[in-house]
Amino acid sequence: MLLMTPGPTPSPEFLRRAMSGESIHHRTPEFEAIFARVRDRLKRFMQASEIVLLAGTGSGAMEAALTHLCAKRALTINAGKFGERWTKIAKAFGKNPLELTYEWNAPAKVEDVENALKNNGDVDALFIQVCESAGGLRHPVEAIAKAAKAARKDIFVVADGITAVGAEKFEVANIDALIAGSQKAFMLPPGLAAIGLSQKAAEHIETTGGAGFYFNLATELKNQRKNTTAWTAATTLVQGLDAFFARLDQIGEDNFYADTLRRRDAGTAALRAIGAHIYPLAPAPSMFSVLHPQAAKLRKWMKSEAHVNVGGGQDHLKETLLRVSNMGFVSPNEIAWSLNALEMAMDKLGARKYDGNANARFTETYYQ
Ligand SMILES: *Cc1c(COP(=O)(O)O)cnc(C)c1O
Repeated sequence: MLLMTPGPTPSPEFLRRAMSGESIHHRTPEFEAIFARVRDRLKRFMQASEIVLLAGTGSGAMEAALTHLCAKRALTINAGKFGERWTKIAKAFGKNPLELTYEWNAPAKVEDVENALKNNGDVDALFIQVCESAGGLRHPVEAIAKAAKAARKDIFVVADGITAVGAEKFEVANIDALIAGSQKAFMLPPGLAAIGLSQKAAEHIETTGGAGFYFNLATELKNQRKNTTAWTAATTLVQGLDAFFARLDQIGEDNFYADTLRRRDAGTAALRAIGAHIYPLAPAPSMFSVLHPQAAKLRKWMKSEAHVNVGGGQDHLKETLLRVSNMGFVSPNEIAWSLNALEMAMDKLGARKYDGNANARFTETYYQ
């Protein structure tokens, strides 16, 4: 079965092998050397001045970012399930969220954030997704972060980059905390999350002494600067991440990102060729997101007959959205096969006659 969901993504053989050795203990010079290397490389990869690795999924890192960087009131951007999660976390911690809501295909607007900040002096932190995976939507996070800082100098800007880090290179100058998770572009199993911090955010965390216990970032920073972790590290996943970076550095970071865009362009051409409705108004490069009245049935055929497991939609888009991952080391043949299978599924459901155009346009565009 080809796993083409936009998280978890399939773990390629070289990563699975890197994680199949003997278990190593986390309080050893052997592990500390790996941890140091991963920390340093991840810091550069995420363009962060500090980095904290956490044993948990992305949502754990979202919670930690909120508890540490929001003292009074959170401004949350909700254009899908993950934006909604920011609001739920903020509520859970009594941060009285001010929520800006959008259709799941519509990017947040800079002026809405500016107005919200102008009218609400108590907001001290902004929470957004770089890519809102619910619809495959790319928010203009660079412009929003810049405007937020211009409107309120001391605001903390927290960006969930779980389906953006490793899918595209973007400006992080005005982002104080950027979140990544192992099971998306890193192509590892779930269970490891990272937060890239700005100098200002790291200093704030240290001077306040952190918040909470397990996800206390002050405790983690203190330990991780010494290349160890406060609690037992997710050793196997850290070894996997080390192997990810070894492969990335063979390919070169620029080539890695260029490959993602090349597949994205070819896949977009393929979808247009078969008249598919690309759902987001601003699509992120990490996935192909298609709105179709029979999406759930198309997915079912693709899975049982073509052995491709693609993502569906949630809530009101449960029956009508399908999403195909374009993250990490996924190969062009896997995307081409998935879109070809989508075209055949459309034929089987009587939506459109199969003519092989998805694969033809993908291949032509990819090798142009
Ligand atoms: C996958 C994902 C998460 C993390 O969800 P977990 O279930 O905690 O791993 C958060 N935000 C976005 C945008 C995601 O795609």
